Amino acid sequence: MIPYGRQEILQSDIDAVVGVLRSDFLTQGPAVPAFEQAVAVYCGAAHAVAVNSATSALHIACLALGLGKGDRLWTSPITFVASANCGLYCGAEVDFVDIDPETFNLCPQALERKLIEAERAGRLPKVVVPVHLCGTPCDMAAIHALGQRFGFRVIEDASHAIGARDGQNIVGSCRYSDITVFSFHPVKIVTSGEGGVAVTNDGTLAHRMSLLRSHGITRDPGEMTAESEGAWYYQQIDLGFNYRMTDIHAALGRSQMERLEAYVARRHELVGRYREELSGSPVTFQRVRADQYPAFHLFVIRIKAEKKSRAAVFQFLRENGIGVNVHYIPVHLQPYYRSMGFNPGDFPAAESYYREAISLPLYPGLRDEDLRKVVQSLKECLAQ
Ligand SMILES: *Cc1c(COP(=O)(O)O)cnc(C)c1O
Repeated sequence: MIPYGRQEILQSDIDAVVGVLRSDFLTQGPAVPAFEQAVAVYCGAAHAVAVNSATSALHIACLALGLGKGDRLWTSPITFVASANCGLYCGAEVDFVDIDPETFNLCPQALERKLIEAERAGRLPKVVVPVHLCGTPCDMAAIHALGQRFGFRVIEDASHAIGARDGQNIVGSCRYSDITVFSFHPVKIVTSGEGGVAVTNDGTLAHRMSLLRSHGITRDPGEMTAESEGAWYYQQIDLGFNYRMTDIHAALGRSQMERLEAYVARRHELVGRYREELSGSPVTFQRVRADQYPAFHLFVIRIKAEKKSRAAVFQFLRENGIGVNVHYIPVHLQPYYRSMGFNPGDFPAAESYYREAISLPLYPGLRDEDLRKVVQSLKECLAQ
């Protein structure tokens, strides 16, 4: 089976991990700040906070922004459940904004319309989480402008988008957001095994996130409510978690960061081939503006064949050894969200996207002959 995504581990990654295993620190050692530094420098953000997953990063990002009971978080229905769940973890209400059928990303016009209604009803969101689907950046300038007008904060879920640029802006520079979150799960662009990083230009937010990832404990006398009682002394000043990344994971992540640009370049080559080979087929692709440089975590096509449903194409390809996937089932249609009152028909563009979407295999190690096989099988299926 050709998988839809796959990590690449080189000897240099193994050496980096073994180096940590032979060192004094498996966790809370120097590899974590070194990894954080590599990510911050790459995307031009002032601070980076590494944790054990992007899900944890989204959670502490929401908490750092003060999201809590009685607040609202809005995101796209076409995302992994974690982009929405982080709001529920904080006791906030979650709602969704429909996608743009061309970019597959949260639609800024739909967002504006929903904000105008929400303002009238006194139900504005505190946090909006745009998701750069497939690694193609959302229209962050527009979303940021709405944030200024309606007073919400922005967390970019860039789990798909490390290495992406929008014009001159590197995703993660946080020019148009408060915090940007990356995932280092093995199917993503670069991996630490499991892992997530939150980047920000706001030192106070970075500090709050560092506190929350480790139980809310401080050893800084300046933050304590009383005199330090000695060198052993620490205080818990907030309710945090153990969301720490280990040095083992951080060493792998840092080693992989060195190949980030090469990986994204290879993904561009493969996507270019796919688009060219499939140009006459009844499928459509995500719209990418000429000045955008996506990270291309996923290559999603929408099946527009009259006689073939997405399900039929999916089954045919799987039976032919091609590990296609679907990203994503709209979050509001998950039973857990249905039980909160969401229904089919709530976000029509997302639901229509879901009926047609298939992710084709895409990863740096995908060989040219694998890609040819995927294209041939797909064309064969669509011609039937
Ligand atoms: C993978 C992913 C996450 C969660 O990442 P983890 O590191 O697995 O917690 C969140 N949002 C999106 C859009 C993702 O693709």
